[in-house]
Amino acid sequence: MNYDLHCHSSISDGVLAPADLVQRAAEKGVDVLGLTDHDDVSGLAEAAQAARAAGIGFVNGVEISVTWSGVTLHVVGLNIDPDDPDLQAGLAGIQQGRHARAERIGQELGKKGIAGAFEGALRHAANPRMIGRTHFARFLVEQGVCKDVRSVFRKYLVRGKPGYVAHEWTSLESAVAWIRAAGGQAVLAHPGRYDLKGKATRRLLAEFRELGGEGVEVVTGSHTPDQHALFAELANLHGLAASRGSDFHAPGEHGRELGGGPDLPVKCTPIWHNWNLTSTRQTRTASKTVPT
Ligand code: AMP
Ligand code: MN
Ligand code: MN
Ligand code: MN
Repeated sequence: MNYDLHCHSSISDGVLAPADLVQRAAEKGVDVLGLTDHDDVSGLAEAAQAARAAGIGFVNGVEISVTWSGVTLHVVGLNIDPDDPDLQAGLAGIQQGRHARAERIGQELGKKGIAGAFEGALRHAANPRMIGRTHFARFLVEQGVCKDVRSVFRKYLVRGKPGYVAHEWTSLESAVAWIRAAGGQAVLAHPGRYDLKGKATRRLLAEFRELGGEGVEVVTGSHTPDQHALFAELANLHGLAASRGSDFHAPGEHGRELGGGPDLPVKCTPIWHNWNLTSTRQTRTASKTVPT
């Protein structure tokens, strides 16, 4: 079974509409897909419907932006109820913060002679509530300022560069609490990507577990093979389950292809070990074997 429990649609900073993303996942051999747009759940209904039509399993997800000890972290929520009022109120607050940050990024880039960046980024954001650095990056590539999204990040959008704006996201405690209030499981996204020393990573995992976190991404598009092994070990050490996801955003951009990457290391407890997906699996089998 191919589980891909982390990816993005055009509701956040992916390029494919939710239904097109699901279609692509089915074509790439994904059996169970979790859509985890940044700080927004409005793509889930369309994606769930497309998954039923394509005969693949689907879980409602979200990727929440957090500031912990001065570092930006991402926490994925899986099997959330997108209509939960606590979750919705929390995400609405983050979206307001995103808008204010985006205006400041536009001003900073303006000082460097790049005019109209806020409006330009907004044009690249199919969902204006979820405007992020990737939309600025795509605008700068379109303007010929840089050759690709990756170089925009390197030259403009990261700490110490002219278009970087420090921002305080929500707390780890709140993100986990909203996910739990919405009936979901909290999973620490791509732990290998944070600027944390070994000791701080272990403190993070312990605190995350203490707050009610249940899993950690072991196999993700931003981990090396060494990191798959390291985080499998750390997940077990801290009593956390393991998750797997591509972090797909767009064909040819950073992150893996949908469904890509190795299986979870055998010693891990998959985050899906107690999910009841029997019905979707049968649908999937039926759609494969019944001639049409
Ligand atoms: P934001 O939440 O608006 O700060 O944007 C974060 C997003 O930017 C991540 O989810 C990635 O999609 C993208 N991103 C971050 N760093 C890089 C990078 N070095 N190259 C390409 N995309 C990046
Ligand atoms: Mn992203
Ligand atoms: Mn992320
Ligand atoms: Mn992501």
